[in-house]
Amino acid sequence: MLFRPTLRRKTSKLTAAAAAAALAIAPMPPVLAQKEKGPPVIRDTEAEQLLRDYTRPILRTAGLEKQNIQVAIINESAFNAFVADGHRIFVNYGAIMQSETPNQLIGVLAHETGHLAGGHLAKMREQMARAQTQMIIAMLLGAGAMVAGAASGNSNSGLANAGAAAVAGPQEMIRRSLISYVRQQEENADRAGVKFLTATGQSPRGMYETFKRFTNESLFAARGADPYLQSHPMPAERVAALEGLARSSPYWDKKDDPGLQLRHDMVRAKISAFMEPQDTVYRRYPMSNDSLPARYAHAITTYLHGDLRSALAQIDGLIQLQPNNPYFQELRGQALLEGGKPAEAIAPLRKAVQLSNNAPLIDMLLGQALVATNNKAYTEEAITILRAAVARETEAPLGYTQLAMAYGRKGDYAEADLASAQAAFLRGDNKTARELASRAKTRFAVGTPGWVKADDIVAAKPMPGQNSN
Ligand SMILES: [Zn+2]
Repeated sequence: MLFRPTLRRKTSKLTAAAAAAALAIAPMPPVLAQKEKGPPVIRDTEAEQLLRDYTRPILRTAGLEKQNIQVAIINESAFNAFVADGHRIFVNYGAIMQSETPNQLIGVLAHETGHLAGGHLAKMREQMARAQTQMIIAMLLGAGAMVAGAASGNSNSGLANAGAAAVAGPQEMIRRSLISYVRQQEENADRAGVKFLTATGQSPRGMYETFKRFTNESLFAARGADPYLQSHPMPAERVAALEGLARSSPYWDKKDDPGLQLRHDMVRAKISAFMEPQDTVYRRYPMSNDSLPARYAHAITTYLHGDLRSALAQIDGLIQLQPNNPYFQELRGQALLEGGKPAEAIAPLRKAVQLSNNAPLIDMLLGQALVATNNKAYTEEAITILRAAVARETEAPLGYTQLAMAYGRKGDYAEADLASAQAAFLRGDNKTARELASRAKTRFAVGTPGWVKADDIVAAKPMPGQNSN
């Protein structure tokens, strides 16, 4: 639902940063270390549900079931997947687009789960810290030698040059030892990934295919151009080892379930339609292609480009084929809502909520439609729906933004300010969040739950990497 044309922006800056980092270490790319304005994360119930279904069995077999590990989709077209902390797997939408089968993406997720299960991130940080200390010592030793060289009265003396060499030498050694450490972690993650796939009765072929593709590409592409290749060194030996391991799996030839393949294709069609330029969408899905995914992409791109009438006709065609598909109903509601017809959006969104078993992001869209009607009769219902949604989906600012509007309409300015503050906080705009929360505090009685929540925001320290859509 939160796929928006406004999200369609190039963030090549991030890719450049990734390439610039001399040592982009596997589990921690510099992408999230940057303070990014705007939403780097894409939210969509259908895509998130698919990724959850891909990861759940793997996490279970890896013993990580209880850790509440989330998969988030990053607004980046390059191929990348990584773990950035102990409880999140990030996947670029580009990795979904470039995975032709569920099994290819599941293989990458299994590999990333291998990093998680092995605690590689924490180990890597330790290793980095150790390397940093070694580096500092080496530099101090080198500087000492240079000072000695200068003191001898001849700055061109061999001693001064030896000083420079003493700086460069250990750095190179440390860099190499880090790289070999990263490779070892990659091999461990490959092995763990194959083990997880075998334990869940899935083929490791997709994982092998994806990594093989990167080896092939690295022969042609400038090294390091791709962030995944940057963080995942793919020497031929590694891919050969993976191939041996993968081919020995009893599930090597097992094909993806056709139903799962269709869901995968639908999500790729949706991502293409929302994120890619229209001519790219039609190149991938020509008008002559009347498969379900192609029709999905056509309907979305038609609505995004302003032809609501034609889009609705196409969406109705989809609904006729699959009346119980919550995402077709959601799309109908979203198209109507964004097309300025919120009252008409309510019925399909109610259906989408029901069919999706109360997916909170769809709840938020329904709340938004109820608020957008300007009909006071809907205010209380909107508040009830939105409150339940923000309780279950704690990272999407949209719920709070709509809640603030509903409270405002009711004349409850204390709750309205608090909800606006929460929305700003989730957007990472801590200054606005504090200002609004301070104002909310003056409107609540001291010590009431609303006052306490507002006080928490006023006192909150900015959370690193905190941003969501
Ligand atoms: Zn890896």
